[in-house]
Amino acid sequence: MENRKVYLGLGTNSGNKKENLTRAIENLSLALGLPTACSTFIESEPWGFESENSFLNCVVAFDTHLSPTELLDTTEEIERRLGRTSKSHNGQYSDRTIDIDILFYGNEVINSDRLTIPHPLLHLRNFVLRPLHEIAPQLTHPAMGRTIDELLAELSK
Ligand code: ADP
Ligand code: MG
Repeated sequence: MENRKVYLGLGTNSGNKKENLTRAIENLSLALGLPTACSTFIESEPWGFESENSFLNCVVAFDTHLSPTELLDTTEEIERRLGRTSKSHNGQYSDRTIDIDILFYGNEVINSDRLTIPHPLLHLRNFVLRPLHEIAPQLTHPAMGRTIDELLAELSK
């Protein structure tokens, strides 16, 4: 398979957040090669649920020859490696310390059991659009036909 540009959205709201993002990027780099771009780390409020802990988010771009499902296997493996180091008393893992979402996979639109790409909520999330805008303002959403610049302006209204 030829190389595709992929954009990954990273988020964490527990533990040493800066370290969690850094370690996730290091692990992704080992699996995918060095990022072609990385946003700054931005702080955001919890979205969609109540928590006292704010989030730290970033967006990272890679060129990869992995298929979408291979990429998801890779990101889920890294989530497990980084996020589930401590167990609670009943043997269940505690909160994930890292969430890795596949935002874009080239220009592909995918709707499968395991994957919805582009990520279905990205255009509604400031904490995704802001860092994405830093590294790819002119990237066009393949399903919505709008650039990140336009989507961010729309959301900010
Ligand atoms: P959330 O990201 O909403 O907090 P999870 O990280 O627990 O939730 O992901 C739940 C499921 O989302 C995964 O099992 C995965 O198969 C699915 N999924 C669907 N589309 C995507 C995507 N674009 N990126 C990452 N996971 C996705
Ligand atoms: Mg996720």
